[in-house]
Amino acid sequence: MYDFAIIGGGIVGLSTGMALGKRYPNARILVLEKESNWAFHQTGNNSGVIHSGVYYKPGSFKAKFCRDGATSMVQFCEENNINHEVCGKVIVATNEEEIPRLENLYNRGLENGIEVKRISPEEVKEIEPHVSCVAGIRVYSTGIANYKQVCFKYAELIQNQGGDLRLNTKVLRIVPSGDKQVLETNNGTFETRYLINCAGLHSDRIAKKSGVDPKAKIVPFRGEYYELTPEKRYLVKTLIYPVPNPDFPFLGVHFTRMIDNSVHAGPNAVLSLKREGYKKTDFDLRDFAEVITYPGFWKLAAKHADEGIQEIIRSFSKAAFVRSLQKLIPEVQAEDLVPCHAGVRAQALMDDGKLVDDFLIIHGQNCVHVCNAPSPAATSSIEIGKAIVAAIPEQSHLATAIGA
Ligand SMILES: Cc1cc2nc3c(=O)[nH]c(=O)nc-3n(C[C@H](O)[C@H](O)[C@H](O)COP(=O)(O)OP(=O)(O)OC[C@H]3O[C@@H](n4cnc5c(N)ncnc54)[C@H](O)[C@@H]3O)c2cc1C
Repeated sequence: MYDFAIIGGGIVGLSTGMALGKRYPNARILVLEKESNWAFHQTGNNSGVIHSGVYYKPGSFKAKFCRDGATSMVQFCEENNINHEVCGKVIVATNEEEIPRLENLYNRGLENGIEVKRISPEEVKEIEPHVSCVAGIRVYSTGIANYKQVCFKYAELIQNQGGDLRLNTKVLRIVPSGDKQVLETNNGTFETRYLINCAGLHSDRIAKKSGVDPKAKIVPFRGEYYELTPEKRYLVKTLIYPVPNPDFPFLGVHFTRMIDNSVHAGPNAVLSLKREGYKKTDFDLRDFAEVITYPGFWKLAAKHADEGIQEIIRSFSKAAFVRSLQKLIPEVQAEDLVPCHAGVRAQALMDDGKLVDDFLIIHGQNCVHVCNAPSPAATSSIEIGKAIVAAIPEQSHLATAIGA
C-alpha cells in the first residue's frame, strides 16, 4: 500500500514526487510511467526555455507559478549542476500594427513583476544584429535549460528519499475501494491512499477513469521545429520572439538558442490526429474521433478557421514556415533550415470551444488531477509540485498513515 501514487513521469509528475518527499519524508511514494524513460513526451520535446512570466494574465496560476518558477528552476539547476543559462530574450514588433500589442505585453510584464525594458530597433540590433523590427522589448530573466536533465535529477531525488519509480508501467484501470484506490497496470496492481494524475496528453482520460469529469478534453497540438544549419547559427545570439496573437495560448514561431548551442526555429501549432503524434502522418482513430465528435472542437474551429488553415499550410509548406521566420530575420533562407524534432502540446478545450488558458488542477476524493499543464509548466514545475502538495487535504486516515 502506497500513500501517494503519481501517474506520469514528465516534469510535473516528478516535481510533485520531489515535493511530496520533502513535505512527507516518511510517506511511501510511487511514480508510474508508461514509457521506458522519464520526460518522454511533452517535457522531452519542448523548446527548453525558462520563461519569465511576461505573457500571462496577472493573478493567474501561470503568471505566479512562472515568475516564481523561473527563479526556483534557475536555483535548482545551479544547485544540481544542470546545464542552463539566463540569457534574456527580445520580443519584437515587425510592423506598426503590432506595436500596441507589444506595449500591452510590456505593461503586463510590469504588472507581473518581471524586469522588462522597451528597446529601439537599434538597441535590438545590438543584441540580435540580424533582426529587423520596428520596436522591441527586452526580457532579462528568460533562460534556457536542459529539462530532460532536470527530470532525471527530480527522479534521482525521489529515489534517494525512498520513492518507488516504475517505468514501462501503464495505468489501465483505476478502481476505488473504500479509502484506497487500486491501480491496475500492464505491470501489476498497486494500491494507494492518494492518487495524483500528471498524465499530460492523457490526463483527461485518467481523470475519467478515477470518476472525475474534468469538463474539458485534451486536444493535441503538434509543434514542429526546424533547426538552423551549424554555419547559420550566428544569425541568432539568444532568443527572438514575435508579438503573439493574444487569442491563442501559443507564442508564435520563434528562434531559440538551445543549451547545446543549436538554434531551433518554431514551433507552429497544428492539430495532431493522434495524441502522441509526432509525425504529420501519425493517425489514431480513437484520438481523432474523440476530437471531431467533441462540440467544443467545432466551436473553436468555427471561430479560428483562418488561423487553423494557416497553421496547416505552414506545417506542409517549408516556404510558408520560412516566410514567418523571415519576418524576424529577413536574411534567413530555406536552405539554412533543416527539419528537427516535434512536440505535442496537451491543451485542454472546454465544451463551449474555449481553450483553457490557465493551469487546471482539479481536486477530488483522495485524488488530484492536473488537467491542463501546457507551457510554461516546465519552467513552473517546482512551483506546481509544491502547490499540489500544499493543497492535498490532510484527511485523517492519510495524515496518520504518513505521520503528518
Ligand atoms: C512543443 C512544445 C514546446 C514547449 N516549450 C516550453 C518551454 O520552452 N518552456 C516551458 O516551460 N514549457 C514548454 N512547453 C510546455 C512543457 O513542456 C509542458 O507543459 C510540460 O512538459 C508538461 O509536463 P507534464 O509532466 O504535465 O507532461 P508530460 O511531459 O507529457 O508527461 C506526462 C507523462 O504521463 C505519462 N502517462 C500518460 N498516461 C499514462 C498512463 N496511463 N500510465 C502511466 N503513465 C502515463 C506519459 O507517458 C508522459 O511521460 C512546451 C511544450 C511543447 C509540446
